[in-house]
Amino acid sequence: MFFSRQVERAVREHRMFTHGDKILAALSGGKDSLALFRELAHQGYDVTGLHVDLGIKDFSVKARMIVEKFCQDLGAGLIVISLAESGLAIPRVKAAVKRPICSVCGKIKRYWFNKTALDKGYTVLATGHNLDDEAGRLLANALRWDTAYLSDQGPTLPAEAGFAAKVKPLYRLSEFETASYCFLRGVEYHMDACPYAKGAGFTFRKQLMQSLEQKSPGSKIGFYEGFLHKARPAFLALEQKNHEKLLPCLECGYPTSAGTCGVCRLKRTLAGQAKFNEYS
Ligand code: SF4
Repeated sequence: MFFSRQVERAVREHRMFTHGDKILAALSGGKDSLALFRELAHQGYDVTGLHVDLGIKDFSVKARMIVEKFCQDLGAGLIVISLAESGLAIPRVKAAVKRPICSVCGKIKRYWFNKTALDKGYTVLATGHNLDDEAGRLLANALRWDTAYLSDQGPTLPAEAGFAAKVKPLYRLSEFETASYCFLRGVEYHMDACPYAKGAGFTFRKQLMQSLEQKSPGSKIGFYEGFLHKARPAFLALEQKNHEKLLPCLECGYPTSAGTCGVCRLKRTLAGQAKFNEYS
C-alpha cells in the first residue's frame, strides 16, 4: 500500500529506528498521530503512545477519550500526562501570557514529550507531522530566514545531552493521505478543531502551500526534499558555529540557556498568580 511504502521509505532513508528500538509516539487524537501509531504497530515496531491532555474543556476530554479507546482496541500501551495536574492547563496559560498561545502550547508539549521519553527510557520519540505541516513550517522559517530553526528542521533530530532522538515518519505524506488511510483502516479520530486554532499562522501557510500544490503538483515535496538535500547542510554548519551552550535547568534538569527553563518559569508565574488571586 502507498501509505506503508512511504513510511518505510522515510524510516529507511533517514535511519529513523529499527525493530530493536523502543518508540514513544505522541498521540493527540488527530488523524496523523493515530495513523502513524497504527502503521508502526502494523509494521511490527515496539511502540507506546503518549497523550498530553491539554485541559481545554470539551476539546481535550474528547481527544483523550479517542486516544484511550484507540490504544485499548489495539492492545497498545499508553502514557497520559495531564497539564491541569501540573498547573499548566492551556486555558490558564493563555490567560497568563502575552505571546500567541500556540507557540507556548507547542513548547509545553515538546517539553513533556522529551521528558517522558528520557525519564521512561524510550530510544526515540515519533510525532505525526505530515508533509503539509513540514512544508508550511519550512515556508515560515524561510520567510524569516530563521537560521536556528532552519538548521533544526528535518525528519530526524539525533539524541544529544538532555534531548531524546526525534523522528517524523509521515513527512512524505499529505494530510489528505493520512485522512484517507484512517478512513480505509476504520480509525476513528478527533475531527474538531482546537478552539484556539482560529487565525493561527500555520493554517494560513499550509493553505498557501496547498494552492501552490494545486497549480503545480509535487511542489510541496520538491520544496521540502530540496531543502533537506541542498540547503539544510549549510544552515547546520552555520548554526554549529553559533551553537549556544545549554545547561540543565536548575529546577527540572531540562536543557536551557537561562538557568531555569521556560516551562518551570511559566509554572512559577502561574503559581504566583494563583496565590495572588487567593489573597486578593
Ligand atoms: S491549536 Fe494551538 S493551542 Fe490548540 S492544540 Fe494546537 S498548538 Fe495548542
